[in-house]
Amino acid sequence: MSESTVRIGLVLPDVMGTYGDGGNALVLRQRLRMRGHDAEIVEITLSDAVPDSLDIYTLGGAEDSAQRLATRHLQRYPGLQQAAAKGAPVLAICAAIQVLGHWYETSSGERVDGVGLIDVTTTPQKLRAIGEVTTTPLLPGLTAPLTGFENHRGGTTLGSDATGLARVTRGVGNGVGDGMEGVVHGAALGTYMHGPVLARNPELADLLLSRALGVSELAPLELPEVEQLRRERLRA
Ligand code: GLN
Repeated sequence: MSESTVRIGLVLPDVMGTYGDGGNALVLRQRLRMRGHDAEIVEITLSDAVPDSLDIYTLGGAEDSAQRLATRHLQRYPGLQQAAAKGAPVLAICAAIQVLGHWYETSSGERVDGVGLIDVTTTPQKLRAIGEVTTTPLLPGLTAPLTGFENHRGGTTLGSDATGLARVTRGVGNGVGDGMEGVVHGAALGTYMHGPVLARNPELADLLLSRALGVSELAPLELPEVEQLRRERLRA
């Protein structure tokens, strides 16, 4: 690995990685390599301390018990929080939004203190949200609709330091009646979208990469199969 290698942290794939969310790290690495960058995925498991020195971090969804193990680990080794404070982009999927928030309640009603990186709280809703979700992004730099697959019971309330990533046009999203999907707070960005979300939304992948590289924008990649996937999912 050279000095200029972009290092992508795949955080706790052993406990947080439902629906192939680890694919987000693969997409980031591939889009970097296609542009001529050296890029590597660094897997951080429950046996590892969390380094604060990586260029970008991704965390996937999880069931309640696994989510709790992840929460404890990130509290014990605060490398992710330190990296985010220095501006490293963090992508949090589904349960990871909840873990990185102030607290979340499990489906059995127990309240668990979160990591406190993102200004949100999460409580279980009456109905589980399952299915395709489509949104209109609110984050500057994103113009194309976002699409993904959601499966969660938690409903996430945004605090005053957080904003919604996008407005829901189909599906449930954060699930607390404000029409929002996902969250943006500083360098951290969260979404309930699986897919993996970055395979289905290349514009979001490139936004995160441009932040990780410290450039204002990246030359687009012409990938007809990705465009075909997007057309299919937007029609689904
Ligand atoms: N256990 C959480 C919920 O149901 C997260 C689920 C997930 O990550 N798929 O809200």
